[in-house]
Amino acid sequence: MAKEFVKDVTSMDEDFAQWYTDVVTKADLIDYSSVRGSMIIRPYGYALWDNIKNELDRRIKETGHENVYMPLFIPESLLQKEKDHVEGFAPEVAWVTHGGSEELAERLVVRPTSEVLFCEHYKNIIHSYRDLPKLYNQWANVVRWEKTTRPFLRTLEFLWQEGHTAHATDEDAMEETIRMLNVYAEVLEDILAIPVVKGQKTEKEKFAGAKATFTVESLMHDGKALQSGTSHHFGTGFAEAFGIQYTDKDGKLQHVHQTSWGFTTRVIGALIMVHGDDRGLVIPPKAAPTQVMIVPIAQHKEGVLDFAYDLKNSLEKVARVDIDASDKKPGWKFNEYEMKGIPVRLEVGPKDIENKQVVLVRRDTLEKIVVPMDQLETKLVELLNEIQSNLYNKALQHREERTSVALTMPELKETLDAKPGFIKAMWCGELACEEKIKEDTGATSRCIPFEQEQLSEKCVCCGKDAKHMVYWAKAY
Ligand SMILES: [Zn+2]
Repeated sequence: MAKEFVKDVTSMDEDFAQWYTDVVTKADLIDYSSVRGSMIIRPYGYALWDNIKNELDRRIKETGHENVYMPLFIPESLLQKEKDHVEGFAPEVAWVTHGGSEELAERLVVRPTSEVLFCEHYKNIIHSYRDLPKLYNQWANVVRWEKTTRPFLRTLEFLWQEGHTAHATDEDAMEETIRMLNVYAEVLEDILAIPVVKGQKTEKEKFAGAKATFTVESLMHDGKALQSGTSHHFGTGFAEAFGIQYTDKDGKLQHVHQTSWGFTTRVIGALIMVHGDDRGLVIPPKAAPTQVMIVPIAQHKEGVLDFAYDLKNSLEKVARVDIDASDKKPGWKFNEYEMKGIPVRLEVGPKDIENKQVVLVRRDTLEKIVVPMDQLETKLVELLNEIQSNLYNKALQHREERTSVALTMPELKETLDAKPGFIKAMWCGELACEEKIKEDTGATSRCIPFEQEQLSEKCVCCGKDAKHMVYWAKAY
């Protein structure tokens, strides 16, 4: 296609950050609002979130959870009940000090996360082993007063789900923590076509108040990592702070074992940065609000629009189909829907109608395919599946090319500069080494992957005996 049709998007290799900003705005995902760091999610962006949300919500329910809704405000005294938790969140909470013109007797926090609200509620409703497990989830907005913000990746307010569960035993809570991590991995890999590394966060990187945090990490096009979902095992820490106890079968009082897990609108940022290209978004078919966009050619000619609408009606059985019958030029439409990352464009004009065929154009490869009308439904379904797996495989190949091994600090530094991505390196388990690696290279520990490899006997930083292999990377 002629260059002049391409909307003005910065090339991703030239300036990845600017490319990202161009895409989120030009693909009509968001608009900026007058409050710094907050964004308006526009209909196209929200339709995308809705699809992701529905896929995840179905799996949350299938694994036995119920949706609830907690209040937006948290009294200051409640937030302060768990020491580590409040320390972790205090620097970025938004305070409500007045109601109308009256100063409040106790300040309120706009929820940055809802652990303490669930704990307060669980204390009231959990009494006996018969009340367990409690498997609750909420879809909500939360507020964190971030200093540096970017649409979807870090905003003052974002949308998410937070699961909060209470169990009789530590093993039950652990099983739940991993079950939900696997649900996140499934949505990321199967729906968003984003391959993930599953593992545990280090002590330094774990959630404030958790006993252990598990994560799914993905790698963006520019070689930076993005934490794409986390699942926390709380042990009995919160239960002790809040007095959440149940009577077991022997009549003894026990603290419950809790978990929490969260998945946010950040994943839209991941989707953009994993699959996007210089023409804009590329959305995997399973996540795409519109999978096929019909663009009639020479639509003023008799019969073309009727034919195109008939096609839309018949294809709606097999895919999410839309049609653009506006009077804008086909070239404008091609660009617009490439920018929006719609997986397949279907072109149909007078000649196609005469020849009983249509033209399909893949967004991922831009390949044009002429398909006879009588094979269209079958071919279209095949093509959508093929695009879905092609995007996953491309992302996996990119991650593999950008995953390196480092045995020494100079190696770690050089590799990060020469080939930004995941660096696998051994670690002794000491905070000092983790901090030194961050200071010297800018890379943070992303996770201790479940799939361990023995790359060497020694810590990459201090040379002492290594305990774990860790994935390191610069991260969003
Ligand atoms: Zn070390």
